Amino acid sequence: MYERNLLLVISGPSGAGKGTICKALVEKHPKTIQCSLSATSRDVRTGEIPNKTYYYIGKDNFLEKIENNQFLEYAKVYGNYYGTLKQEVQRLFSLKADVILEIEMQGALQIREKSQDAVLIFIMPPSFKELSARLMRRKRDCEEDIQNRLDKVSSELKYIKDYDYIVVNDKIEDAVAKIESIIVAEKCKMDERTFDIETFIKDI
Ligand code: 5GP
Repeated sequence: MYERNLLLVISGPSGAGKGTICKALVEKHPKTIQCSLSATSRDVRTGEIPNKTYYYIGKDNFLEKIENNQFLEYAKVYGNYYGTLKQEVQRLFSLKADVILEIEMQGALQIREKSQDAVLIFIMPPSFKELSARLMRRKRDCEEDIQNRLDKVSSELKYIKDYDYIVVNDKIEDAVAKIESIIVAEKCKMDERTFDIETFIKDI
């Protein structure tokens, strides 16, 4: 009755486990948690599936959508554009679900400026050593890319203070449980729009 659906923003260094955590949350709560699919100007990589991994819309189309104010947020990362389409988020909210945006920090800060209600969660690896071991283990990037991602970490950590929560991802199940608790707590937060005391008293 009093519940509101949440816009959850999940960021963190590459290799911190954001993707795995988001996937696990949606698998556990398929009716109430949805992940927004981002649009990108970059090409499809091997193993990726159009309209499942990203909406691959090309650079011209992306720039046109920026011009037409169709993005809730967007950023240029490693030379390519990535963004959250307003229409995508509206579609997921219409399903009465909490919506997760798995995006990097520039985009997260744009969301924060637009909505004080958004819940910003930063996923931290247990240590720098473990982060570098994870990036090596997943064999997705070449050595140079791994080094670039590791070099980026200290600049990314500067944004941490703008987030509402920090979740250390030591064990995936624990990180998922912490985010589930954050969702419950956020929904119990006092909110004058969903809990109108006057109306409540009148109904007694
Ligand atoms: P990749 O090309 O490796 O899939 O993603 C590169 C970066 O873009 C990652 O840091 C990822 O979090 C970020 N990213 C993916 N989708 C979005 C989005 O919609 N908005 C923003 N701001 N960043 C995104």
